[in-house]
Amino acid sequence: MLTIDGSRGEGGGQILRSSLTLSLLTGKPFRIVNIRAGRKKPGLLRQHLAALKAAAQIGQAGVSGASPGKQPELGEQALTFYPGEIAPGNRHFSIGSAGSATLVLQTVLLPLLTAPAPSRLVFEGGTHNPFAPPFDFLQKAFLPLLERMGARVSAKLERPGFYPAGGGKFSVVIQPISKLNRIDLPERGKLLGINAKALISQLPLHVARRELKVVAEKLSLQKEQLAEEEVLNPQGPGNVLIIEIASEQVREIFTGFGEKRVAAEQVAAQAAEAAQNYLESGAAVGQYLADQLLLPFALAGGGSFSTLPPTSHFETNLDVLRRFMDIDVSIEQTSETTQMVHIG
Ligand code: AMP
Repeated sequence: MLTIDGSRGEGGGQILRSSLTLSLLTGKPFRIVNIRAGRKKPGLLRQHLAALKAAAQIGQAGVSGASPGKQPELGEQALTFYPGEIAPGNRHFSIGSAGSATLVLQTVLLPLLTAPAPSRLVFEGGTHNPFAPPFDFLQKAFLPLLERMGARVSAKLERPGFYPAGGGKFSVVIQPISKLNRIDLPERGKLLGINAKALISQLPLHVARRELKVVAEKLSLQKEQLAEEEVLNPQGPGNVLIIEIASEQVREIFTGFGEKRVAAEQVAAQAAEAAQNYLESGAAVGQYLADQLLLPFALAGGGSFSTLPPTSHFETNLDVLRRFMDIDVSIEQTSETTQMVHIG
């Protein structure tokens, strides 16, 4: 059986989530040890348990924790996963806390795309969490690329859930496909437009306005490219700033997450800087999309994209992918700020 070391590289939850996805896709069981050993609070948090349970449910998998025959619990640092047949259908996944619901979706999405029937999933939890893809990123950047590969996946946000209150909700309909097509993204193409949206929930409107002012200055945006939006029926306080860059071949999303004791100007400056780095690099795909495209591109049997220098998430995810699938991945430095990733 494959043994995955959860302390390698980034040492985060992605090693577990990608292992679950790849195990369901390949039918290979695995044991993972040192789960999230690279994080301050190692082991399974609620959101990782939720991803594990979701994967076990849709994959009719057998799971045991560090002690054989016992189910994994919060804080557990080792587990074994035996995948079964993929079971599509209607399901409701509740993450419980403000844990990221989008990461749970990403765990089960590819296996359900290869299932014999459609699935309709409802997720409750955090939809805009720091250190996870926000819902807007999934809907506008990640899913459209999967659609270009032939997948039909629609996602609808019912209400946002911010850290720490959570309580967000979204639904996803997944139509299965016999095979994903490879795509190549050597360039992003002509810039079609940039806009920025500041979402606030139970916070004064000036937070959104100050963020938008900074982004407008840094990215030279006009009034009509900016929007502030107050969340109706909020579950708790929260704020995110979402910068959307649409180009002919790809759409990218850069997010700033409002935090207590961090000035709105600082939140906005960081997001604007990430957007600026991307714009100046000329790469098609930003750093977050790069690590998240590895699995779908491998499932398609190949593809390529230009991106910024590799992050440790990218390298770690590639490492996990290579453990489960025999696939060639090469990385070619194309300029000081860009590289081409060739898969298959
Ligand atoms: P981990 O830290 O191991 O739980 O993995 C986090 C995952 O979330 C990685 O796939 C990151 O690319 C992704 N991620 C983190 N922050 C963002 C963000 N702001 N936008 C999009 N994806 C993100």
